[in-house]
Amino acid sequence: MPAYLDHAATTPLRPEALEAMLPYLTEHYGNPSGAHGISRAARLAVDEARDTVAECLGCEPGEVVFTAGGTEADNLALSGVRARRGGIVMCTAVEHHAVLHTTEVLGGTVIAVGPDGVVDLDRLGDALHDEVSVLSVMLANNEVGVVEPLDMVASVLRDKAPGAALHTDAVQAFLWLDVAALAAPADLVAVSAHKFGGPKGVGALVVRTGTEVSPIIHGGGQERDRRSGTHNVAGIVGMAAAMRATVAERTAMVERVSVLRDRLADGLAEAVPGTTETVSRDRKVAGSCHLRFQGVESEALLVLLDDAGVCVSAGSACTSGAMEPSHVLTAMGVSRVDALSSLRLSLGATTTDDDVDLALKAVPDAVARLREP
Ligand code: PLP
Repeated sequence: MPAYLDHAATTPLRPEALEAMLPYLTEHYGNPSGAHGISRAARLAVDEARDTVAECLGCEPGEVVFTAGGTEADNLALSGVRARRGGIVMCTAVEHHAVLHTTEVLGGTVIAVGPDGVVDLDRLGDALHDEVSVLSVMLANNEVGVVEPLDMVASVLRDKAPGAALHTDAVQAFLWLDVAALAAPADLVAVSAHKFGGPKGVGALVVRTGTEVSPIIHGGGQERDRRSGTHNVAGIVGMAAAMRATVAERTAMVERVSVLRDRLADGLAEAVPGTTETVSRDRKVAGSCHLRFQGVESEALLVLLDDAGVCVSAGSACTSGAMEPSHVLTAMGVSRVDALSSLRLSLGATTTDDDVDLALKAVPDAVARLREP
């Protein structure tokens, strides 16, 4: 069995989600927008899922807009507010590309972070002004796991640009953090089912009452005209089941996984000389283990680890044949060489001691091989 340590990329489907979805892939095939009994069964399922999602995210059912995932939810938040209110879109330099590229396309402003990956509140305060219509600050980062201080961001925003909406990308946060509480100061909250044991291609955007978004997808007027398109009924039902199970087990899971993560990070730091941990553990989510191994190219390391049955990822991206360092690490002031030597090991609800044991054996072996003269 390979050690799957790439939960930040995606998570295995929870059995509760699969079980909840199956009837909506088979006998209950109705279109929830229809008027007859077969449609009604599907509509009831979507309504019930909406209630669950709202409860888990701390909002009203009418504030939930189902989307085709986190990317669409982020796009709807930024483009939707901007289309409605005009003004300037702002985000931090460590956002996922779903936010960062949308901000760039909309001609927005990007705010610096400190070396710890946390948004610089002084710079944010200086940059904010009345023209800003929406600010996007993620709750937990997908590469280094850092948790942003959303309550403090909200108070700076309310002070400097009281008319602006606050959006948070909580896609990586939901598995680990009480998003209902932590994202309470946000007007818009994005989540994605496949990051917490739900299916891929389904997510949600919370649009709090009083915050208006123009649709970015036009058509039949579903989701109160905020997101057209026939509902992904099975996906929505699966997301709700995964959310409920995640919330029920979150505290115990976080406790269990932090022990595994600490054993992994401590073990690798001890076994591999020249290891740096990117963000201090008390600032990040429990499943995040982001390390840099001096003098080792992470792309080569990934190949050896894959051969050894350890599935992890690196933050770099291959652009025009050349390796580009991660924008997150660059924004944190990590040098290009160091950034290209980083490895993201991300643990999750199904991670076991055996996975950690395999990584503790395979990573030092692979690093040693790459360091051979
Ligand atoms: N936002 C963050 C922080 C993410 O990590 C991801 C996925 O990696 C997304 C948004 C995009 O979500 P999806 O894969 O559902 O489009």
